[in-house]
Amino acid sequence: MRTTTGWKATGPGSVERAQLTRRDLRPDDIAVRVDYCGVCHTDVHTLRTYDPHAESLLVPGHEFTGVVTETGADVTAFSVGDPVAVGNIVDSCGTCAMCAAGQENFCHTFPTLTYGGTDRQDGSTTLGGYSREYVVRDTFAYPLPTGLDAAAAAPLMCAGVTVWEPLRSLGVGPGSRVAVAGLGGLGHLAVKIVVALGATTTVISRSTDKRDDALQLGAHDLIASTDAQQMAAARDTFDVVIDTVSAPHDLAPYLKLVAMDGTLSLVGYLGELTIEAMDLLVGRKKLSSAGSGGRPSTAEMLRFCADNGIGADVEVLPSAQVNTALERLARNDVRYRFVLDMSDLT
Ligand code: NAP
Ligand code: ZN
Repeated sequence: MRTTTGWKATGPGSVERAQLTRRDLRPDDIAVRVDYCGVCHTDVHTLRTYDPHAESLLVPGHEFTGVVTETGADVTAFSVGDPVAVGNIVDSCGTCAMCAAGQENFCHTFPTLTYGGTDRQDGSTTLGGYSREYVVRDTFAYPLPTGLDAAAAAPLMCAGVTVWEPLRSLGVGPGSRVAVAGLGGLGHLAVKIVVALGATTTVISRSTDKRDDALQLGAHDLIASTDAQQMAAARDTFDVVIDTVSAPHDLAPYLKLVAMDGTLSLVGYLGELTIEAMDLLVGRKKLSSAGSGGRPSTAEMLRFCADNGIGADVEVLPSAQVNTALERLARNDVRYRFVLDMSDLT
């Protein structure tokens, strides 16, 4: 086994520095020195429910960039020194219809998650990117295109691809009218991507506090979800509403914004839902969801972001301040993604 240092959960909501082990390299593995790891709201959700008496460690972190430090015997796609990016899935069965279609994120046996997943070969629990080293199968690491800043690119690997795939599959492009609900990590990248795809975007936020930011990001307008008049005026006007809101909420007001035959794509809150069929019936509206990305679309997203100068708006903190980042993210005090600088773990 290899040893490294990282941040493990101690109880609900917080982490502490710890020594961690990583597997020895398999023939198709690479070792990555993690330089930057984004702090996703999913980390907050997962830590909140962590049981300190659980048998396996929880080390969050599923969007990171770094440099290859060692390659397994069969690896040809990477060399030592290559900059790479890793997202929230690190393996899949490789043989089911979804994997064959390049949708490893929907693998019939469920993809192996970057943390809290079960390794397909040794049954161990995967430990995430809040650490100085990660060992990953080569096919689930992506060359980081030149031109992308390593810190700003880290969040592309979860937040970015999670909004990229549905926006692409829904055909968003010139002429599309898109609303982005919730202006956080996922939301601000959705705005940037929608704009770069040539569509118009409106942000739906709880207040008008983020209005200037929304316009700066390229949005055409911001509607306060708490303003009944503004919401009513925007009824039936968006081909796609992408909902990145992190908390449970009523979907009805967002469905009302969807144009006839349009889609509400729910990617933020992934729990149980209650909806009125009539809110879909009137206007033949569709409700869908998505998560993460398959390998082809993840690579495509990285190329698109490099070509269009898209990175996250990040606040980079030394990894020692991870608990501050988690606590501030939980109370929406971030513009728009915390990224941990792991160099203090050397
Ligand atoms: P984030 O940075 O905290 O952004 C979430 C945004 O939701 C906030 O900025 C806020 O926007 C809005 N919001 C928060 N609480 C709200 C409430 N009570 N009512 C209404 N709006 C509220 O989080 P994130 O990292 O972007 O993640 C967003 C969600 O996506 C999380 O639930 C996360 O677990 C999930 N996620 C899903 C996937 C997937 O695979 N589908 C991948 C990554 C993350 P305003 O201030 O503009 O109102
Ligand atoms: Zn995430």
